[in-house]
Amino acid sequence: MPHGFKLEPVFMNHTKSKSLFSAAVNLFPGGVNSPVRAFRSVGGTPLFISKGKGSRIWDADGNEYLDFCGSWGPLIHGHAPEFVTKAAVKALRAGSSFGAPTALENELARLIITHHRGIEKMRFVSSGTEAVMSAIRMARGYTGRTKLLKFEGCYHGHSDSLLVKAGSGLVTHGNSSSAGVPDAIAENTLVCHLDDEAGVEKAFKEHPNSIACVIIEPVPANNGLLLQRKEFLSFLRKKCSAEGALLIFDEVISGFRLGFEGAYGYYKVKPDIFTFGKIIGGGFPVGAYASSARIMSMIAPEGKVYQAGTLSGNPVAMSAGIAQLKACLRKGFYQKLEKKTKDFVKAVHSGTKDVPGFRIWHLGSIFWFTFTDKKQIRRADEVDHESMKRFSTLYHYLLEHGIYLGPSGYEVGFISAAHTASELKHAAAVFVQGVRKIAG
Ligand code: PLP
Repeated sequence: MPHGFKLEPVFMNHTKSKSLFSAAVNLFPGGVNSPVRAFRSVGGTPLFISKGKGSRIWDADGNEYLDFCGSWGPLIHGHAPEFVTKAAVKALRAGSSFGAPTALENELARLIITHHRGIEKMRFVSSGTEAVMSAIRMARGYTGRTKLLKFEGCYHGHSDSLLVKAGSGLVTHGNSSSAGVPDAIAENTLVCHLDDEAGVEKAFKEHPNSIACVIIEPVPANNGLLLQRKEFLSFLRKKCSAEGALLIFDEVISGFRLGFEGAYGYYKVKPDIFTFGKIIGGGFPVGAYASSARIMSMIAPEGKVYQAGTLSGNPVAMSAGIAQLKACLRKGFYQKLEKKTKDFVKAVHSGTKDVPGFRIWHLGSIFWFTFTDKKQIRRADEVDHESMKRFSTLYHYLLEHGIYLGPSGYEVGFISAAHTASELKHAAAVFVQGVRKIAG
């Protein structure tokens, strides 16, 4: 580690990243291929990353960082773990894509279905967005209903029906949160607050027999970490069953992260449909949706709901996914990861508990911190937007000390199996020093 576990800032030159970004703005909108990478919410210009190994990444200028972004979640074993790289290279040498079935698809699906009690059949796609979009079409096809109900503060990818935010009022037809989404689509999406049973009751009452599905991130991790009560998830389960709607758990982040069975295993609440992404592909573009054999039989060519993909079940990605998930199944893997995270969060907490207005939470190996006095934040509208200015200051402080996080205060951090106890102890000390400096 070039910063040698010191608490002083590291001298960093960012000339190459800056020059790459100047070139990129002429090539891509905002200079990036996904908006949050642009550093707009923290200010400054993005770092261009050239290499990752284990818990570390290096930018184009050769600066080294301890990475808590982990490509936004997929890298549960850290960067370029040998067993994943080897599996992917082996598959690649045998041909990158065939557009015909391979045994690797069977192997990854069997591995998942054998170790996940909520799933009988699945379909591989190439991203989380695609998984969610297809799951919703399946729910609509299965129920013969049109509307979907989602929650403010959950992110489910960028398909039209999901780029919808709450309008004014409690239960409302949503307003699109992006230009280009027709009102005719947005009006079929209902938006409720998280942690609000009454809102959901009202939505079902106002739209009898028309809600096809309720979709939730059971561990909402895209607007801070908005940890839900188990009772709320159980309530959704009961309500959906009573009303003939399907419950979808979007486990793109929580799947294979909280445990092999994700939030379903953690909360013991079973949805009708799961959506996956991130970890499932070992760092390659893979998503999946999964359910009972009966519901999955809606999908073409077995059923009438159409969904297809040229690169679906790509053999290189399948191989990487198999290697990654097999390693997750090692005895004690998740317990060890959770313990590391708990120790890190405890160290940050104990060093900052006398600092007013700062909190840190975790679930499994996902953590989130924010500048607030609130003991618990369960809803998006409870996150203090003003506090994000202080997050930006802390963000740059951490960066200068060799710690990389997703560049937004609404994003969570991920700890991987590659993070060592001594790295985490050092990182906690830097966090504490930074928070005390900024809050004090
Ligand atoms: N669902 C959740 C919960 C996510 O966090 C994301 C992405 O962050 C998606 C869906 C969309 O996945 P992707 O970016 O792979 O399309």
